[in-house]
Amino acid sequence: MTVMQPRKRVGLVAHDAKKDAMVAWTARNRTKLAEADLWGTGTTGGRIADATGLAVTRLKSGPLGGDQQLGAMIAEGKLDILIFFTDPLAAMPHDVDVKALLRISTLTQTVIACNEATADFIIESSLFEQAYRPESEPDG
Ligand code: PGA
Repeated sequence: MTVMQPRKRVGLVAHDAKKDAMVAWTARNRTKLAEADLWGTGTTGGRIADATGLAVTRLKSGPLGGDQQLGAMIAEGKLDILIFFTDPLAAMPHDVDVKALLRISTLTQTVIACNEATADFIIESSLFEQAYRPESEPDG
């Protein structure tokens, strides 16, 4: 993988039961997120932009292909971090898309948070504002 730059490229997704938590999390972390480039699935991205004024590039809604769009961005090296508040208590019509997104994220050393606690650790990390490359990954 290439080196992650200090300015991070962040994908934001929340399943319906987690959207309020996502909006609150982005509002709490507005200052740091304003220094990043943000993409979101349709509904999640719209709610974040409305509530916080952050500039979020909106993709399609998750069930209509938004998760796949984020996966394609990740495969092309265009996202560094995925904040994805999943709902483990609900069946999703697009479950295969969710799995594919998490798989390509894992494969590509994308930083992934599937819950708020992990998202807090990521945003509080000094690495959020620094260049970074995993030790085990070759250049390129
Ligand atoms: P949404 O998509 O932000 O458009 O609701 C998220 C999802 O359910 O995958």
